[in-house]
Amino acid sequence: MEIVPLPLLADNYGYLLIDPATRRAAVVDCSEAGPVLAEVERRGLRLEAILSTHHHYDHVGGNEDVARAIPGIRILGSRADAARIPAITELLDDDAEFEVIGSRGRAILIPAHTSGHLAYFFPDDGPSVFSGDTLFAAGCGRLFEGSPAQMMQSLGKLAVLPEATQVWCGHEYTEQNLRFAHDLEPTNPDIIAKRTRVEMLRQNGRPTVPSTIGEEKRTNPFLRCESAELRRTLLSRFPDLSTDSTAIFAKIRELKDNFRG
Ligand code: ZN
Ligand code: FE
Repeated sequence: MEIVPLPLLADNYGYLLIDPATRRAAVVDCSEAGPVLAEVERRGLRLEAILSTHHHYDHVGGNEDVARAIPGIRILGSRADAARIPAITELLDDDAEFEVIGSRGRAILIPAHTSGHLAYFFPDDGPSVFSGDTLFAAGCGRLFEGSPAQMMQSLGKLAVLPEATQVWCGHEYTEQNLRFAHDLEPTNPDIIAKRTRVEMLRQNGRPTVPSTIGEEKRTNPFLRCESAELRRTLLSRFPDLSTDSTAIFAKIRELKDNFRG
């Protein structure tokens, strides 16, 4: 399947999934209907399904309009969030397997940003994972409906995917996230190299997705609570900080909430 990022709203990504042979398509996180339907039309596709990662408006805002425009379209989402995902037709539990446009996928329940947040993993296509607002390139989502420990656990469920798995996230936050990552690990060569690459992409108005799980393990501070340099930075600034991983993670999340780099 082919994956096409669609810039939506201010800095959101929806993703068109296309089977080139049959022109069947699905969309991950349809925050607005107009641009998605226009792209489907322009490419001569048949839109068969929407996959919603979580209930926030900037991820499901277009569901109702698309359901009206394409009667009978499948809308997949988390059973835990069924009441908050507009026009949902298929309720997925953790680890549920499904099929869209001829590709097999698996839902992974990754609560904390919201309590019912799902990632969608496609083992045969890339492999690829759509991580919504839980795992960003070099960052993670805010903890609106969960604790630091829960977010660590959710990120851990993505970190065990194959290193080559392409990561397609919900927002273009990468440049800012890497400034924060660099502040915590000033000599990490992977962060330095990725920052240069990402700044170039953004100067040219290009998306920074996809990342990969391997790249995230090397550059994302929220997956690097064990990094010696990161710990040195934090302990130099907060000498009383516990060295427990959850405490480190919670501190990184708190600092990121207030970071103006
Ligand atoms: Zn969100
Ligand atoms: Fe969002």
